[in-house]
Parts: sequence; C-alpha cells; structure tokens
Amino acid sequence: MGRCPRCQVPLLSADLDGIPVTHCPRCVGAWVETRHVIGFLDALAPKLAPDVTANSSLNAAPDPGPVARCPGCGGAPTLGGFMNAPHVRIDHCSKCAASWLDGPEIGTMVRQRAIAAARSADTAQWHAQEREGVNRRLGLQIGRREPRLG
Ligand SMILES: [Zn+2]
Ligand SMILES: [Zn+2]
Repeated sequence: MGRCPRCQVPLLSADLDGIPVTHCPRCVGAWVETRHVIGFLDALAPKLAPDVTANSSLNAAPDPGPVARCPGCGGAPTLGGFMNAPHVRIDHCSKCAASWLDGPEIGTMVRQRAIAAARSADTAQWHAQEREGVNRRLGLQIGRREPRLG
C-alpha cells in the first residue's frame, strides 16, 4: 500500500469491526474500498456522533480539495459527493474501487448519516402519532349518537 495522498507518509493497515481500512496516522484520512464506506462510517458513529439528534447541526468541516493521486494506483481520482453533505468531496478511484476519505470529511459524513437516521426515526414516530390521533377522532364519531327526532 502506498503513501497518504495528503501527507506522503506511509499508510497503515487496520481492521475496524471487520472492515479493512488503510489510514494515515498523521491526517487520519482513510482509504476504504467503496463497498465498505457505509459500514466504515457506521462503525465510527458511536465514537464520532454519539449525541446526535434530529435537531443537531452538521457543522461540516471545510473541503480540503481533491487529492492529486490515488494512493492505490497513482491515477487521478474522480470526485463524488455523499448524501448532499456540504464540503464532502470523496476522491474515488474506479480502477481500485476504493475511495479516499479525508479525516474532517469522515466526521462530516458520520454526522450527516446519524442526523438523517435520527430524523427518519422522528418522522416514523410522528406518523405513528398522527395515525393514533386519526383513530381517536374516528372513534369519537363512531361513538356519537344521532339526536332522535320526534
Ligand atoms: Zn495524511
Ligand atoms: Zn486507484
């Protein structure tokens, strides 16, 4: 494995909950197979986004700009986004089927995913409450007696 595309120091191999990760000890950027990116982010969520709620703000880290070379093959990576998170520009190499994630970017992506999960949980709860309210109103109508005439 090559060197960090930012710092040029040798990358280190690690295992994060069964996900193979190659990371830079200096800038904490990570080189992750694209199919493992979501698992990688979720494995970091308890550490990087422990208190996130639906109302949390993203506090996106500034975009450090693209890297010049893929740490795997030396080719020029293409840029990709992530869940419309601001400032996240993933450097993706289609030849290596892997992505370079900058350290600050990783924090932003983990929070973006955690906030989205919290919001969808809130939405599901809101829908459940709405249904309950509708059922209660229907129940009242069903129970209401028509006044007798005559
Ligand atoms: Zn680095
Ligand atoms: Zn490559």
